[in-house]
Amino acid sequence: MLRITELKLPLDHPENAIKTAILSRLGISSDQLITYTLFRQGHDARKRDAISLVYTLDLEIKNEQAILKRLENDPHLSVTPDTTYHFVTRAPVDMPERPVVIGTGPCGLFAGLILAQMGFKPIILERGKEVRERTKDTFGLWRKGIFNPESNVQFGEGGAGTFSDGKLYTQIKDPHHYGRKVLTEFVKAGAPAEILHVSKPHIGTFKLVSMVEQIRAAIESLGGEIRFQSRADQIDIADGQVRGVILAGGETISSNHVVLAVGHSARDTFKMLYDRGVYIEAKPFSIGFRIEHPQSLIDKCRFGNHAGHPLLGAADYKLVHHCRNGRSVYSFCMCPGGTVVAATSEAGHVVTNGMSQYSRNERNANSGIVVGITPDDYPGHPLAGIDFQRQLEAHAFKLGGESYHAPGQLVGDFLSNRPSSAFGSVLPSYTPGVHLGDLSTALPDYAIDAIREALPAFDKKIKGFAMNDAVLTGVETRTSSPIRIKRNAQYQSINTHGLYPAGEGAGYAGGILSAAVDGIKIAEAVALDMISRF
Ligand SMILES: Cc1cc2nc3c(=O)[nH]c(=O)nc-3n(C[C@H](O)[C@H](O)[C@H](O)COP(=O)(O)OP(=O)(O)OC[C@H]3O[C@@H](n4cnc5c(N)ncnc54)[C@H](O)[C@@H]3O)c2cc1C
Repeated sequence: MLRITELKLPLDHPENAIKTAILSRLGISSDQLITYTLFRQGHDARKRDAISLVYTLDLEIKNEQAILKRLENDPHLSVTPDTTYHFVTRAPVDMPERPVVIGTGPCGLFAGLILAQMGFKPIILERGKEVRERTKDTFGLWRKGIFNPESNVQFGEGGAGTFSDGKLYTQIKDPHHYGRKVLTEFVKAGAPAEILHVSKPHIGTFKLVSMVEQIRAAIESLGGEIRFQSRADQIDIADGQVRGVILAGGETISSNHVVLAVGHSARDTFKMLYDRGVYIEAKPFSIGFRIEHPQSLIDKCRFGNHAGHPLLGAADYKLVHHCRNGRSVYSFCMCPGGTVVAATSEAGHVVTNGMSQYSRNERNANSGIVVGITPDDYPGHPLAGIDFQRQLEAHAFKLGGESYHAPGQLVGDFLSNRPSSAFGSVLPSYTPGVHLGDLSTALPDYAIDAIREALPAFDKKIKGFAMNDAVLTGVETRTSSPIRIKRNAQYQSINTHGLYPAGEGAGYAGGILSAAVDGIKIAEAVALDMISRF
């Protein structure tokens, strides 16, 4: 099969225009084209009055080789790659050891799923509850201000991405097409089939909940075991080799292969690992606020008269500004038609993040507006970034009135350095509520200065971005892990054999898809090591 990319057609083109465009692009007659299938569909809205759909198509045609030769200089024509997933090995039936995976976020779930599919019968440990119970606890904070430190937006079945927009794109290099395997498994678990071909797939939070349950059922049907409310409190290490995991209740689970997929909020687990001598270093991350605008403002700016077109959906944006003080400010985890959510995993802290439903039809667009920081801003100790996050989150709790309300300010007031006392045309979506006031002490001065410089700059790209009534809430501190647990070429900790640091918490992923892809790589490394020692 041959693949053509960058085939552009007007937004409202008739169905048969695709076939006509293929024939003209390749200079072939209709009888030479046997069939074509859609691999990817996106849109190009750089000219908002002439938005085009952009296709990648796989073609079955007669005389493929001759056409390839004739068009060998066409950068948008190639042989369709094989994106099928192939297992690297299979477990023998009498394999004596079972690998342990800590965490059921996308990384842990995919490490567990692939290990189970290869026959390794993993034991998967999750500190939080199964997803439906967890949902009740999460809503407890959002609706009633009741917080559960072991069952919340960060902790529980499905991990941090369960209550999210479910954006499924990443900029990681993926030469082995692991991302395709992830999307295929998601579709098997109930995700809409379109995620396999739209250029910016997203699932929305409700669908994610039932998908996570389906993946759990698949793992269990293959002999894997998932244990909830089973927090790994200690790692048993002897002579630089992992021997097992000790649970909060005291039970020991023995294994020479332990995958550590605990996410970026497992601060107690990081401390335990550091105390046990596992090599950890500080890593850059970002801090800032969430901003909310009317979604209609973003749609109008991005899509002009095509705003609301069903093929385009709610518009997103991606913004970056390099500031005079050397900092960069950028939009993070933008959620079109979504809501801002309370995302703390510790009592007495306030953290913001964003999520949306599949329909993305809430009235506001939200996004993190965050400033990049580095270990130079929190020097001294490998875990100092965690202390830095904690200080900001505890201060936000105070500014919000000590009731899990988020501190907030209108953009106009923030830019003019005066406290806000009443909402304007934009009503924030964060629950249990927003306490208006002054955000200028919520972040270090360099970050406040950078955001004050960036918002008017963003307004030049999206007219209205710095509108007076847009609402800022904070603080956004869980943008990525503040640490990295370094690993070697075999994906094991550089000083603890058999410990596989994985996913976002260990510093190797930055979203659902990249965490799941890392889980696949880790499963393969674990499986190959287990087979080599068998
Ligand atoms: C509100 C929100 C919205 C988001 N939206 C998106 C989005 O739209 N698209 C996107 O790509 N990304 C999004 N993200 C980020 C994404 O969720 C993470 O990048 C991803 O979940 C990281 O996967 P992970 O498996 O590495 O870790 P996590 O998903 O954090 O999973 C870690 C798991 O480990 C468990 N755990 C921790 N410590 C222990 C222990 N000691 N013992 C046992 N279990 C433990 C936790 O309970 C958790 O379930 C969002 C995050 C949040 C919070």
